[in-house]
Amino acid sequence: MECGVSLVEEVEDTFEDDNGFDLGDRVLCPDGTCTGIIVDGRCSECGRTPDEVKKQEEQQEEQQEEQEEEQQEEQQEKKQAEKELNKE
Ligand SMILES: [Zn+2]
Repeated sequence: MECGVSLVEEVEDTFEDDNGFDLGDRVLCPDGTCTGIIVDGRCSECGRTPDEVKKQEEQQEEQQEEQEEEQQEEQQEKKQAEKELNKE
């Protein structure tokens, strides 16, 4: 029994090692919309480093938040203008 068990474990270990070797060389681009992989520290598709992708995403999020705030302010101004028109 013991011999059979150890044999199975050896086969599984070899299988996992093969998979790990292939996947270990592949680092997907952090940008979810990009299908590239990181080669020598840079994406093969967009040419950016993972750090550059992260920084750009953070900047885009900040810009979106600013735009949303501006839109909300505009809507509030419109509502106030409508209220004033209704009064007259
Ligand atoms: Zn990319």
